[in-house]
Amino acid sequence: MKERTLSIIKPDGVRKGLIGEVIRRFEKEGLKIVAMKMVRLDKEEAEGFYAVHRGKPFFESLTTFMSSGPIVVMVLEGEKAIERNRQIMGATDPQQAEEGTIRRMYADNIQENIVHGSDAPETATFEISYFFSSLEIV
Ligand code: GDP
Repeated sequence: MKERTLSIIKPDGVRKGLIGEVIRRFEKEGLKIVAMKMVRLDKEEAEGFYAVHRGKPFFESLTTFMSSGPIVVMVLEGEKAIERNRQIMGATDPQQAEEGTIRRMYADNIQENIVHGSDAPETATFEISYFFSSLEIV
């Protein structure tokens, strides 16, 4: 079934010059980019995006990190896009991520892990609408 998922190249990915690398990887794996923009979240916007993690010990540092520089947000479309994007990204902790995944290849640690990807259809719907109106998705 064709799905849509939200992908983010996080501030560390942008700082490290990995925008092209990440996009190339999605395109190579057959995930179609149907929306894309660069934005900088303020602290409150980062807190809103990660609201499900409010109360966790890493919430403060995660939202400070996510508002520390520009990010690239994209909507990816394809068969099983949510699961396939998660496979391409690898596990949250780069040390646990499989060889060849984006996080294993480029991430410094469990927080600064280069990319975000929605983890389920309901979160994908919320996350896509957090950044894009229906008019912005082609
Ligand atoms: P994801 O779906 O793989 O991105 O992982 P989660 O939804 O569990 O966590 C969201 C984001 O919070 C992760 O991508 C990391 O940037 C950050 N994060 C998760 N776990 C930890 C942790 O134990 N410590 C810190 N500092 N950050 C974390």
